[in-house]
Amino acid sequence: MTTSSGTGVFFDGLTSRRQDVHVSLAEEDLAVLAPDGRMLARWPLGQLREAFTTSGRLRLTRDAEGPPARLELADGPLADAIRAAAPALHAARASERTATRRVVLWSVAAVVSLTALGLFGLPALADKVAPLLPWSVDRRMGEVVDAQLRYLLPTGQGGFACGETATEAPGRAALDRLAAPLERAAGLPVPLKITVVRSAIPNALALPGGPIYLFDGLIREARSPDELAGVLAHEIGHVAHRDGARRTLQAGGLSFLFGFVLGDFAGGGAAVFVARMLSEASYSRQAESAADGYAVALMRRAGGDPAAFGALLARLTGEQDDDGAEAERKRSPLDYVASHPDTLERKRVIEAAAGPRSGDAAPLLTPAEFAALKAVCGANPSKDDDA
Ligand SMILES: [Zn+2]
Repeated sequence: MTTSSGTGVFFDGLTSRRQDVHVSLAEEDLAVLAPDGRMLARWPLGQLREAFTTSGRLRLTRDAEGPPARLELADGPLADAIRAAAPALHAARASERTATRRVVLWSVAAVVSLTALGLFGLPALADKVAPLLPWSVDRRMGEVVDAQLRYLLPTGQGGFACGETATEAPGRAALDRLAAPLERAAGLPVPLKITVVRSAIPNALALPGGPIYLFDGLIREARSPDELAGVLAHEIGHVAHRDGARRTLQAGGLSFLFGFVLGDFAGGGAAVFVARMLSEASYSRQAESAADGYAVALMRRAGGDPAAFGALLARLTGEQDDDGAEAERKRSPLDYVASHPDTLERKRVIEAAAGPRSGDAAPLLTPAEFAALKAVCGANPSKDDDA
């Protein structure tokens, strides 16, 4: 290898003084010499790093302990020779570019989020942003939330999901039959993934991007397949309206969204989302009425009874019913009713929207199929099981 030399500017890292220097490239190292010949630095080629610069010059630092000295060279034969002799420079340069891009993205993200927060406030902003997200973002959020829920939810013996063993399979098949016309009629851009959760809590929820959890406790409350279909239709409404993504954004804040953009979405936002979803009213009243309206229309298209869902809601509140007064239920904060307030008012609205039903409509499942669905989690004893 030929030795190459030229001139440059050296900063010793201790003072701000710039020194014109003579630079000499040898086999093993790069020597930096003062005009009087004094050796200022001798940097092994393996320790050379290229620092970011927009000037087109080659700015070198040394990856070692000591003051942050740097050497600047004009582009030219010497700079090229150094780049060729120290291959680590190239890799370092690429990762430097990536890091720079990340910093720029984060800065843009911060500015955008602060501006948007000032203009709209977070809930309104989430409203505006959620419909713009690609569905892949919903799905990724859903996956993370799903993992957290599976970890956090107390479930009975036999695993988180029902319907996977041979004895529970007929119930699962019945559920798939119930859901199929709803999924067809909904025509969502994401596949529905319904999981029956082995839990006595009467609840159902939709995760961002399509996963729907139907709790065994709610299946046991249902007195007709159309009531359960109504629950599914309502949850499909939340998926279609991107309510899960909206809620996740509100709960996790924008850092959550930008975490997606930059590819290091961690559990923080998801944990907040899960905690809030399970412990307090999940969606806004507006989102609930919108999902109810969606459910009525979807049930009608799928050939089910749109009003059945309202009857189940009213029975879950336990305050008032078609059958007359019922004893006040002991309610877990995780109950469907707790996360879906104003149940009786909603029942009235649903029934008004549903209108009268033609008498010859068949239920969505045969009695045998419905019985199988009711037993999808096996013979868990449930004191409220009066169907
Ligand atoms: Zn809802």
